[in-house]
Amino acid sequence: ENHTLIIGASHAGAQAAVSLRQAGYDGHITLLGEETVPPYHRPPLSKDYLSGERDEADILLRPEESYAAAQIDLRLGVRAGAIDRTAKTVQTTQGEHIAYTHLVLATGARVRHLRIPGAELPHVLYLRDTKDVDAIRDRIEPGQRAVIIGGGYIGLETAASLRKRGMEVTLLEAQPRILQRVTSAQMSDFYRRVHTEEGVEIIEDCMAAEITRAYDGLNVYTSCGRVFAAHLVVIGIGVIPNIDLAEFSGLAIGDGIEVNGFCQTSDSDIYAIGDVSHHYNPLYERHVRLESVPNATEQAKVVAAHIMGKPKPYNALPWFWSDQFDLKLQIAGLSDGYDNVVVRGDPEGSRNFAAYYFKGDRLLAVDAVNAPRDFMTARMVLSKGRTLDKTKLTGSDADLKAAIL
Ligand code: FAD
Repeated sequence: ENHTLIIGASHAGAQAAVSLRQAGYDGHITLLGEETVPPYHRPPLSKDYLSGERDEADILLRPEESYAAAQIDLRLGVRAGAIDRTAKTVQTTQGEHIAYTHLVLATGARVRHLRIPGAELPHVLYLRDTKDVDAIRDRIEPGQRAVIIGGGYIGLETAASLRKRGMEVTLLEAQPRILQRVTSAQMSDFYRRVHTEEGVEIIEDCMAAEITRAYDGLNVYTSCGRVFAAHLVVIGIGVIPNIDLAEFSGLAIGDGIEVNGFCQTSDSDIYAIGDVSHHYNPLYERHVRLESVPNATEQAKVVAAHIMGKPKPYNALPWFWSDQFDLKLQIAGLSDGYDNVVVRGDPEGSRNFAAYYFKGDRLLAVDAVNAPRDFMTARMVLSKGRTLDKTKLTGSDADLKAAIL
């Protein structure tokens, strides 16, 4: 009998299992995950799960019973330790051997650790899974200070959520500006302004150098000479793809597990999807590793179709979102390599605008803040490989449709 074994029970893995069943797969499906909570939405962890507006039951991807109902064997709290590609088995760390006909690696990513003295102290926390956030939630204390290390989207979302819960928040960014690794100076300026207006202290060009224990809390020493007393420290400095299983079994590795257009690894019976996969994006004509839910979901569908013998290569437009305070940011496309930006709206005086990134006349991406129409239009245009007429974008009332080329 066919048996698809999926390692990693989160966005990518759960979707692969469900899509296979929906497509009529009649073999056995095992969805194996190390975490003990049934597959859940990860984005709320730094947003309304952290702020306490949602709990575990509210963030599950699907009701727990639905897996059994779809004859998906969901096995939680189990870690895959090794793959034997010749025997086509996976060994769990408890020593069980599971045979497969198809194997899907959906192992995601883990947090990058900060290597400074004191980073291992209690109340110095990271944010990747529910256990992490439960520990942060337990330590929230209105009026006390939280220091966030790292000014990427997760650091900024964490700052906003802790502020909402009444904490004093200081955010340290080592680079000259927040969001430097992921977006433009216009966006950094905008988010710095809004966070400052909301009472978050943003300090750029400043590294956490050492953390020490203080009475019922911590002291954070920095490269810029300031010291912060903190009740809680949260570190968000990026993630590392979980490639170990693949690497030890000899699969091709780059920035993640190398896959082709059908998400197959260098072993054609083994697929890799989601945050762990290093894949080719035909729209941008280059290899990327994306950390986003839409990518995890799309790749899962590509794998299900391929296993069902109805191959459809991956050809999705990358997109992403981030929620902070009253700001809904939606990002369509990949802006890396842009050489000019057109801004619609007023990022300096308002809380809604869109930044369009071009390379020459070719639209690459859009960052849309509280501007769903800009996002929708750009997403449609980019998915079709088309572009927009820059000269028709500047007026705030410009008819976006008229700008499509
Ligand atoms: P993961 O979600 O990382 O899941 C991998 C799973 O595999 C984990 O449960 C892990 O325990 C398990 N696993 C790993 N190795 C093994 C093993 N050997 N055996 C068994 N199990 C194993 N994306 C967005 O698009 N929008 C957002 O707003 C957004 N916000 C985010 C906020 C936070 C706080 C975080 C952490 C992420 C956010 N993301 C967001 C990113 C998004 O959550 C990820 O892109 C998505 O979770 C990737 O799904 P995945 O299934 O590939 O991997």
